[in-house]
Amino acid sequence: MKAVLGGKGANLAEMTNLGVPVPPGFTIACQTCIAFLRDGHAPDGLREEVTRNLRRLEETAGKRFGDAERPLLVSVRSGAPVSMPGMMETILNLGLNDETVVGLARASDNARFAFDSYRRFIQMYADVVLGVPASRFEQLLAAKRLTNDVETDAELSEDALRELVAEYKRLVRNATGADFPSDPETQLWGAVEAVWRSWTLKKAVDYRKVNGIAEDLGTAVNVVAMVFGNMGDDSGTGVAFTRDPSTGARTFYGEFLVNAQGEDVVAGIRTPLRIEEMAERLPGAYEELLETQRRLEAHFREMQDIEFTVERGKLFLLQTRTGKRAAAAAVRIAHDMVSEGLITRDEAVRRVVPSQLDQLLHPVIDAGVRAREVATGLPASPGAASGVAVFDPDIAEQRAARGEAVVLVREETTPEDFHGIVAARAVLTARGGMTSHAAVVARGMGKCAVVGCKDIHVDANHRRFTAADTVVHEGEWITLDGASGKVYAGQLPTVPSEIVRVVGGQLDASRAPAYRAFADLLGWADELRRLRVRANADTPKDARIARAFGAEGIGLCRTEHMFFEGDRITAMREMIVARDEGGRRRALTKLLPMQRADFEGIFEAMDGCPVTIRLLDPPLHEFLPHGGEESKLLARTLNLSRDQLNRIVDELRESNPMLGHRGCRLGITYPEITEMQARAIFEAAVRATRRGFEVKPEIMIPLVATVREFDNQAAIIRRVAHETLDAMGIDIEYLVGTMIELPRAALTADEIARTAEFFSFGTNDLTQTTLGLSRDDAGRFLPVYIERGILADDPFQVLDQEGVGKLIRRAVYDGRTSRPKLKVGVCGEHGGEPRSVRFFHRSGLDYVSCSPFRVPVARLAAAQAAL
Ligand code: ADP
Ligand code: MG
Ligand code: MG
Repeated sequence: MKAVLGGKGANLAEMTNLGVPVPPGFTIACQTCIAFLRDGHAPDGLREEVTRNLRRLEETAGKRFGDAERPLLVSVRSGAPVSMPGMMETILNLGLNDETVVGLARASDNARFAFDSYRRFIQMYADVVLGVPASRFEQLLAAKRLTNDVETDAELSEDALRELVAEYKRLVRNATGADFPSDPETQLWGAVEAVWRSWTLKKAVDYRKVNGIAEDLGTAVNVVAMVFGNMGDDSGTGVAFTRDPSTGARTFYGEFLVNAQGEDVVAGIRTPLRIEEMAERLPGAYEELLETQRRLEAHFREMQDIEFTVERGKLFLLQTRTGKRAAAAAVRIAHDMVSEGLITRDEAVRRVVPSQLDQLLHPVIDAGVRAREVATGLPASPGAASGVAVFDPDIAEQRAARGEAVVLVREETTPEDFHGIVAARAVLTARGGMTSHAAVVARGMGKCAVVGCKDIHVDANHRRFTAADTVVHEGEWITLDGASGKVYAGQLPTVPSEIVRVVGGQLDASRAPAYRAFADLLGWADELRRLRVRANADTPKDARIARAFGAEGIGLCRTEHMFFEGDRITAMREMIVARDEGGRRRALTKLLPMQRADFEGIFEAMDGCPVTIRLLDPPLHEFLPHGGEESKLLARTLNLSRDQLNRIVDELRESNPMLGHRGCRLGITYPEITEMQARAIFEAAVRATRRGFEVKPEIMIPLVATVREFDNQAAIIRRVAHETLDAMGIDIEYLVGTMIELPRAALTADEIARTAEFFSFGTNDLTQTTLGLSRDDAGRFLPVYIERGILADDPFQVLDQEGVGKLIRRAVYDGRTSRPKLKVGVCGEHGGEPRSVRFFHRSGLDYVSCSPFRVPVARLAAAQAAL
């Protein structure tokens, strides 16, 4: 019932049903939050219903709200259908006033504790409900420590706390013009409404935006009887995971504080103790906790993140939810749970978020490098990241918007820093534990984080931090290793991750456990998917990597990319600036052997798999000399004067090269280019075949708008194929097809498919031409479009299903009407984007093709689409 009760409320109810010790309470449905925000008041009848449930709660708890003898105190807690850790409000100790505090003191036999709870309540309530900043209470608290000559709050005496309560109330009266509300029911409604309003806090809105959570879910309000972790040394509170959220290891993992209330741990204010130490401090409760976490994990069949409190030796669970985890942990946990018989392979495949796999391929810090280590903290979220230190979330946002890599450094992070965390490459904090909100949020985003780094002293006012004798100012580079918790000065070199090393052949798979879990999971995904996955690869090296990542062919080999390297570009430039066919043929003769060698290497790497080769499609300007040495060299090679060369270059310049002389338009005006490329492909195919490789070339003609363009180029290719294969006495099967990247091609797909043997949707150009949106210039306004909700996503990243997608569907349908067996694929960034992959699956495509490093993402996304 998460949609109604929110995640927290639903799981509290579930735990109650299981017989897990949970304090009694009730939940107000999420929908009332939306009604309240819309109408400005609570729905009719809600008050009566809440009052009725409050009476029931009193009976169950055996305490009464506002009772001076045995007062009931509650927490009023937010909890949305989708977990948003720390983004909304929770108020503890509600129900305290000058009478009930006496009852609490008597019932607990601890007046100091009662007044401490009271002053905490006033501070929290005034901050959240009445809008009096917590910092003003902190100032009074600090002054009290000073005048009482003590270091910590825990040393303040009962009398000092009593005085503080009076001072707090005076502050509230001065700041708001009204007395602090003493009636518990008034307090309750104030808190409930504040929780509802917290749905629209900036941090909550930001969090939903980043995580794609709907705005209209609303938060539930959980009213839960208080239990106290701050009743003395036999009490405490903590947060734990049923498995290690960084590595996925099957070890109970957590942190706790003795004599403290929950917020202290999750808010990252005090750095807590490791959970193992609880065995000594609170042995009975620890045993029960171990047993309970086992039950919860077995029941939910999923790694749980739990919050608990021990009141005088007795354990209470306050929350359980699916734990956020780093990518490596996600894969390992899914894999292990299959081995443990807890979940099926399908479930394992379903549980890993495809885009998370990306993180496993990110580089890590080179262990061999000698670097200046300045401090070590807790390894809260793995990965390596460098950036300039910044000490303020707003500045982090500004500098990141200017394209800088930043690392957010804070004394402690609060959910208010969320936008800064989003902007930063990594997060470093001096205080807080592994289970603090900052750590949980960073892990959920796959962002590197080191927290609780006691070695550093953060001075936000002067925008610097010090660690021993090192001082790092704002704007200076630092590097974090989220796997070891180490902090380094400067920008450190990185090396490929374990998985990438296995894929690249530098590490043996048997020595790489992370790789094995990854490979197994993707193997299970392969059994489930229908959509094939190919890679975009332009060189034999990329082809080998793609294959190692599981690519089942090449969906796009861009021939012009072969010429960006070394002295090859000179030959390419010669070809481009040639004045006549003779000059072009001379340059093409130089290019032919280079292409042939590359194709042969690719065919070899892709033995047995199809390889789609796209004919030359360069926006010519990318290849023109940029003056200086380049021009001098080219002029000399061509035996031209600099002036002559410059004139040619000027003539070649186009005002809109993306819609200019490119794609098949080049091959039509200069057929010798197509001829040379076809020859290189077929000669390479023959050579590779003779060496025993199975070759399946698919030749693709780019930027076709009409079937006549296609036919013109296909005729050349087929003629050259015939000549070459005949002359060499070999028969090789091949296909000639086209890229569909112009709306006109999509609209005339039935005609084109009569002669074209396959389609590959070039979704980058098709997006550009369908939306009339230049990829290179969209940066100026696209962010505004997304911000204002005019476009839901960047259409170059996530396929525009309603527009471009409609063209694709129609072209697939029309194409297959002409040629039922028409092979259809996608090449372009969208081929590795999970939501787009799902769309391609549903649209009946045969394959997607994406960059080699996205292949694992596409394999998993394709399997999830099929489930
Ligand atoms: P969040 O969603 O921010 O984690 P919670 O509602 O879970 O907010 O509250 C935060 C912490 O407050 C909990 O982890 C718990 O330790 C403490 N807390 C909440 N309700 C109670 C309660 N009824 N008794 C004792 N502690 C509570
Ligand atoms: Mg909270
Ligand atoms: Mg919580």
